[in-house]
Parts: sequence; structure tokens; C-alpha cells
Amino acid sequence: MSSIADVYRKEKGNLIVLSGPSGVGKGTICKELLRYYSDIVYSISATTRKARLGEVHGKDYFFYSKDEFLKMVEEDAFLEWAKVYDNYYGTPKLFVEEITSRGKDCILEIDVQGALQVKERKPEGVFIFIVPPSKEELIRRITCRGTENEKEVAKRMEKVDDEIALLPQYDYMVENDNLQKAVELIRCIILAERTRIHNHKK
Ligand code: 5GP
Repeated sequence: MSSIADVYRKEKGNLIVLSGPSGVGKGTICKELLRYYSDIVYSISATTRKARLGEVHGKDYFFYSKDEFLKMVEEDAFLEWAKVYDNYYGTPKLFVEEITSRGKDCILEIDVQGALQVKERKPEGVFIFIVPPSKEELIRRITCRGTENEKEVAKRMEKVDDEIALLPQYDYMVENDNLQKAVELIRCIILAERTRIHNHKK
């Protein structure tokens, strides 16, 4: 016998999109979130960028050649895809569909171009924008990360204002001035979203 709650509970899991400017800490927040909460599934992106030291194919990303990636684009295998700086990135569609249809929440850590594409296709998703405490702090974080050279850092900073201008299109804003605080806030958002009433029976 189903409970009252079961009748009104959403059948599908939530699609949670974590986005924001490069260097804001999306990746770190996402890793922390997944470390503590095993009830969220991470969507592993495909990319044409070269693997960084320690990155593993099938865990951090699916690393593909440009030809392989563009073939997947042709086959409509992506929920979204974008050229971010000099490389292509995309979210494999089937995986996200499979996880959410099993009632599990799936989290995407993607750039703003991709997030807006997902919003077009899946407006029911939960869109979270991570903001840095300041632009100066953002520059400091990208520089400290050491994965980009000076020219690349400058390229990323040029785009920040345009990216922040897209913030009103999101559902939630989380400032990343403190990692644990940001992770907890996102956890609260995810829990609250799970209690949303599925109103198809109205
Ligand atoms: P990185 O190369 O530093 O791992 O990621 C660079 C940027 O690409 C980050 O802003 C990251 O969020 C974004 N990104 C990672 N995966 C995807 C994806 O599947 N789609 C899109 N649109 N952006 C992604």
C-alpha cells in the first residue's frame, strides 16, 4: 500500500546543475558534496582537453579526441555541449536520463553556456550559480590552482562579467566564501527540492 507522501512525491530524481565562472570552486564543492553524500550521482562529462596529472578516464572525465567528440555531437549523444576556452565539453545524455528515471538525483558541474542549454531542455532542473566573494579572489584562486598560464587566466577573467550577468536566470545563488558553508547550503537546496510536490494529480 502506498503512503500519502508516495502519491505526491516526484517520480524522477532531480537534475542539479552547478555552474558559475571558471575558478569559482565548482569542482571542489562538487567533490566535497559527493564525499559526504552518497545519494547524489555525478554526471561525468566528456571533453577534448588533455587529462591533467592524476585525472582518470571514466572518473574525472571521458577524454576524447576532437573527432570522437564531434561524432557524439552528430549522434545527438549530449544533453548539452559547449566550447569552453579551447576545448569541447559535453554531458552524455543517456546517463543523466537513466539516473533521474531511477529516482536518483544527478549533479552536473558545467559552464554557464551548458547550464543555459540544459535549462532550455530541462526547465524542471535545479539551477545553482556559484559566485566568488570578489573578482580579486577569483583571480587569486585561478592563479593558485596553477593549471592555467598567465594568458589563460586573463582569458578566463575577461569572461567573468558576462558569466555573472547570467545569474538572474538561475534558481539559487551560493557564495563560495567558505567551502563547507557552500557545500552545506547546496545540500539544503537539494533536500528542499526533494520535498517539492509533484502536482500532476491536481
Ligand atoms: P576544467 O577543464 O578546468 O576541468 O573545466 C573547465 C570548465 O568546463 C569548467 O567551468 C567546467 O565547469 C566546465 N565543464 C566541465 N564539464 C562540462 C560539460 O560537460 N559541459 C560544459 N558545458 N562545461 C563543462
